[in-house]
Amino acid sequence: MRFDDSRVDTSRVSDRRGAGLGGRGRSFGPGMAVGGGGGIIGLIVLAIVLFTGGDPASVGSGSGFSFPESGETETDIDTRCNASPEAIDQYDDCFTIKVTNEIDEVWAAEFSERGSEYTRPQLVLFEQSVSTSCGQASANVGPFYCPPDQGIFIDLGFMAQLQQQLGAEGRYAKAYILAHEVGHHIQTLDGTESQVRRAQQQDPSQTNALSVKLELQADCYAGVWSTLANQAGNLAITEVELDQALSAAEAVGDDAIQSQGGGQVNPESFTHGTSEERRSWFLTGYQSGDMDSCNTFG
Ligand SMILES: [Zn+2]
Repeated sequence: MRFDDSRVDTSRVSDRRGAGLGGRGRSFGPGMAVGGGGGIIGLIVLAIVLFTGGDPASVGSGSGFSFPESGETETDIDTRCNASPEAIDQYDDCFTIKVTNEIDEVWAAEFSERGSEYTRPQLVLFEQSVSTSCGQASANVGPFYCPPDQGIFIDLGFMAQLQQQLGAEGRYAKAYILAHEVGHHIQTLDGTESQVRRAQQQDPSQTNALSVKLELQADCYAGVWSTLANQAGNLAITEVELDQALSAAEAVGDDAIQSQGGGQVNPESFTHGTSEERRSWFLTGYQSGDMDSCNTFG
């Protein structure tokens, strides 16, 4: 994956690393991704456990990435990420911010073309645990989106782990995950998320089924983004990288996660869709490059 420029825009970044260490609140596990009002959506559920077979505490060690000094301010991040074009490759946080910049840029143009306005989500970096308007989340969940905060929350240890497991070629898989979370942001901007939440409240038996549709639509939007980014020249994404993204989509399918966890696969508790469904909807978006192809509710 190549970027068309190396400027890293940190203006929407909130760095809360080091701030959540004492937090011991409610944590979220598989199957709890969508709850009542204001619940977290968009967990890439426990992929750390999936990849490592356990122990989220081991995450981040030996990943080969440079991590910033603790106590660094947000101004420092901006300076560090823009110090040289190599910063994107050198620092996991800079890479993550840069990918999010590119995702925002593509969607801003697409929204504008459709006569509406895209407002950028905030990107919250945290470690161990974080307070959100959706509740307290612990680091052993993957990246997630919280609608009231319009925020994507990421523990970069998760990203480092993904990189470690997938190798240097795993960067596009990370981009897929970020694009999926921004997909939830789009659902918040266009009202889909609140409609789904109301429908879930009216008919709780449909909670998980509706959650799956929301997740698959976010996967589809990630596919649409890939194609639009390629067309706009923001990114050059190869077919090999696309395949890695699809593998990531499969690896985080609910059935794969539940199997890996040693438990019975229980479709009723699925909140993200099966690996096959996720792959299929990602491809639908990728091949069409059109948001309108992403009607998973139809
Ligand atoms: Zn999701």
